[in-house]
Amino acid sequence: TKNTRTRLVMGNWKMNGNLATNAELLAGLHLGQPDPAVELAVCVPFPYLAQASVALAGGHVSWGAQDVSAHAQGAYTGEVSASMLVDFGCRWVLVGHSERRSMHGESSQLVADKAVAALDGGLVPVVCVGETLTEQEAGQTNQVIAQQLAPVLALGTEALAKIVVAYEPVWAIGTGRSATPEQAQHVHAAIRASLAGAGSQQTRILYGGSVKASNAASLFAMNDIDGALVGGASLVAQEFLRIAAA
Ligand code: PGA
Repeated sequence: TKNTRTRLVMGNWKMNGNLATNAELLAGLHLGQPDPAVELAVCVPFPYLAQASVALAGGHVSWGAQDVSAHAQGAYTGEVSASMLVDFGCRWVLVGHSERRSMHGESSQLVADKAVAALDGGLVPVVCVGETLTEQEAGQTNQVIAQQLAPVLALGTEALAKIVVAYEPVWAIGTGRSATPEQAQHVHAAIRASLAGAGSQQTRILYGGSVKASNAASLFAMNDIDGALVGGASLVAQEFLRIAAA
């Protein structure tokens, strides 16, 4: 049941920030006094991992990256490996964010391969799934999610016990139009059932897409919503902390 899964609120800064604005944001997060029952994390751009690791060290906010290579090392120009992320203290990495699926052609199999590389390196992959507006309007949501999850479910019970899944409807990302709690719960319940079918009862499922302080509590009230993946609203420390407190 929900009670045994620790809530996780994770920021996704995307390609935003610079040394000066990050310093302010990270200090605000580090000094916040969040509910100890909620896990807090931020996924920052690669060049700022060192800055995040210094600013957040010893505090209540952990950090991670927004992508990882499916390969462990070698001739992969421009890619970043899981062990490199671990070198900078990362605990988490997003894999298969819709912006990477759509703009970088990442397939669901590649996303699953990245999840394996993350697990092998000692990171927790946060596997993102979600349907587009066209797919939602065509009534294909559950089918699209099932296809995106299939290669991940195939990784087996042991892997599934360690990962996090994030449901992010593409039509809700950055639009200000969040899914309703009931809409999100409906999809989360279907994801929960497929994870359970693959042997994992305890995998956390986050909701993402226009989460803000004003709608977080109603989303978190849903039985199968275990936290949030937050884009825009994670760029302001007080707003992000208010989401965590919701
Ligand atoms: P948003 O982004 O909160 O700005 O909608 C969420 C995400 O893409 O992870």
